[in-house]
Amino acid sequence: MPGANKRLSGKVIWARRGFWARFTPELETAFRRHYEDDLVQRARWSAVIAASVMAVYSLLDVLMVAPEVLPHFLWVRWLFMILPLLCVSAISYTRFGARHLQKFAAAASVSSALAVVAMIVIARLNGTPIEYEGIILTIFYFYCCGGLRMKWALLAGCTAAVAYPLAEYFAGLSPRELAVRSLFLISANIVGVISAALMELAARRGFAQLLALETMSNSDPLTGLLNRRALDRRLADLWETAGRSGQKLQIAMIDVDYFKQYNDHYGHAGGDEVLRELAALLSEHSDNTQNLAARFGGEEFLCVWSAPPDQPAEARLEEILRQVRQLSREHEKSPLGRLSVSIGAVELQPGLLSPMDAEAALRAADALLYRAKSQGRNQAVLSRLRTGRPTSAKEPLQTLSLVGS
Ligand code: GH3
Ligand code: MG
Ligand code: MG
Repeated sequence: MPGANKRLSGKVIWARRGFWARFTPELETAFRRHYEDDLVQRARWSAVIAASVMAVYSLLDVLMVAPEVLPHFLWVRWLFMILPLLCVSAISYTRFGARHLQKFAAAASVSSALAVVAMIVIARLNGTPIEYEGIILTIFYFYCCGGLRMKWALLAGCTAAVAYPLAEYFAGLSPRELAVRSLFLISANIVGVISAALMELAARRGFAQLLALETMSNSDPLTGLLNRRALDRRLADLWETAGRSGQKLQIAMIDVDYFKQYNDHYGHAGGDEVLRELAALLSEHSDNTQNLAARFGGEEFLCVWSAPPDQPAEARLEEILRQVRQLSREHEKSPLGRLSVSIGAVELQPGLLSPMDAEAALRAADALLYRAKSQGRNQAVLSRLRTGRPTSAKEPLQTLSLVGS
């Protein structure tokens, strides 16, 4: 599938490729939501257009249909086609309707299919047969324009393909005609299925490209963590949510010690490997929703934790220092002889009236990182900040240093 990546940031996205392409289960759910959101627009407007066409047809009925069957035609057309289609469009504006629109649109389509069959049979029983091609037109509408997922289009299309020959059989159509028309209806369904599958395939490619674009614009290419741009946006969201819920946020800025010397001694590629290793370690502390890990720039990383709310910041920081120690990566140019990091961290509760914003919190974490560096590196300095008053950032409730062993 050209243009669509097989993997994004190391994650496989396709479970099956080709004509019946499928995403991996997690992405499949996201795709269905995305696709059905798109189909809401299509189903809404195609229902209005189809209802309008039917209204014009009912004018033609007045001019062209035998007077004995006209009343039957009019009530079948309006009650079982136009009304359900207009209901689909109207209900799509409600939240409940939009969520279940596929089922409502499928019900309106089945009703329309049966209505077309009913009109053809009514005309035949009256001895004034009309053209049957309208049923083929209806089948194409289900597959190509109705905004239906394949399974619902198939349900409506097959209803028409089964109901029509049955009804005509009982109305006395000759077996030869019946066979020919059934063949056309089956063919119309096959062409419809192929068209619907191709449209869905195009939608899947579009979704995969959208994912690739989003991943590229939100993640750091070297480490795969969130990049600065994505972090700013996600932190603002977490900040706002925490401000509303009264939840605490913990923000940690993590910087590799003596990294310039590491690069100089082991080479830039070796330095890159360290950054990737640390990123993998930090991503274990992120769930990408309430807890984030990002590459802040250069050899600096940023973690934001909001869940679980009662997890002490000290425990998280000590764990990171311990994990970095366990990497046991040698660093000849560091006084420690191995790679270490320094961390500046703040814990605070963003309040709606708080004068401190996310940017100020990052500055506070950066200042504490500077303190960790000047106190000897390989340690975390954590400050619990009061954020309710203008002087808050300078007025920590508690500051403690956790020195890595
Ligand atoms: P400190 O202990 O005070 O943090 O000292 P440091 O040497 O780690 O900090 P400094 O700011 O002097 O140097 C940071 C180095 O990080 C310099 C730069 O070459 C390196 N660096 C920044 N981005 C990358 C990268 O993407 N890959 C590699 N390999 N090195 C990088
Ligand atoms: Mg550094
Ligand atoms: Mg730095």
